Amino acid sequence: MEKQIDKIKGIIYGQAIGDALGLGTEGMTDEDMAWKYPNGIRHYSEIFQDRHRKRWKIGDWTDDTDMMLCIANAVIKDRGVNLTSIAKKFKEWADGEPMGIGENTYKVLMIGDYVEKPLEVSKKVWEMSNRQAAANGGLMRTSIVGLFPKAVEECAANICRLTHYDPRCVGSCVIASQLIHSLVYDNKGLTYHQMIDIAQRYDERIREFIDLSMNTDIRALELQDDDSVGYTLRTLAAGLWAYWNASSFEEGLLAVVLAGGDADTNAAVACAILGAKYGYSSIPQEYVEGLIYKEQLDEVVNGMIGLIK
Ligand SMILES: [Mg+2]
Repeated sequence: MEKQIDKIKGIIYGQAIGDALGLGTEGMTDEDMAWKYPNGIRHYSEIFQDRHRKRWKIGDWTDDTDMMLCIANAVIKDRGVNLTSIAKKFKEWADGEPMGIGENTYKVLMIGDYVEKPLEVSKKVWEMSNRQAAANGGLMRTSIVGLFPKAVEECAANICRLTHYDPRCVGSCVIASQLIHSLVYDNKGLTYHQMIDIAQRYDERIREFIDLSMNTDIRALELQDDDSVGYTLRTLAAGLWAYWNASSFEEGLLAVVLAGGDADTNAAVACAILGAKYGYSSIPQEYVEGLIYKEQLDEVVNGMIGLIK
């Protein structure tokens, strides 16, 4: 149990740390980073304070972790998964005019009868995009689902669909959540073939990005590609890249952050996975200490442990 608790804490903190440090390079290219971070970036206090970034306090996280906490708090309160409660939490959060809310998420949550029929609304918005919209807004918050003791696939799929209906989004969430679940509960993770099996059940376009994640050089993932920043499969590839390649939490964190693009989301996903792989005890304390709202994370850690025991 002690080892499991270390992993559970590692996932929740990992997500928040990746998100908070990743904000520092969100939307940046190599050229931007060479200018703004000539010596790289290692801590929240170094985040370049431009118009986008200075809206957040140093050591705050963004929408990715906010929405992960919406799911966690709903599940803890209900002592189980109730999609309507989660949808309600999403809606309350969106009505509070949060910073950095994703375009697709905003569109879905702002439709009048969202809370009454979230899946229908979400599906309609996706259909109105000609079934093209496949942003990483479901994937960015799915780590917590990996902690559920059972029905992980079903829960990851349905919670994703609350805002992101595309099968590429759903498949991304199932792969990331199952990977985390296996690391926590079976202490082993998924093999390449297990990931491909899941991918094939949802959408054949996922496979290419699992293959991409196997590259040792993170640049092969083209995370700064203008046309696909924020695409669920790019972010999935970043998370899996860290899983295959990073030999420590910190190494993976810094590599994904310095790869730019949608760095807060990429690092939130990658670092939740690394937290599950290496545990909270492997995370350098400075990253933990620098999070200004970390008592919210502790509450959720305790709440989730309470559900599992
Ligand atoms: Mg974000």
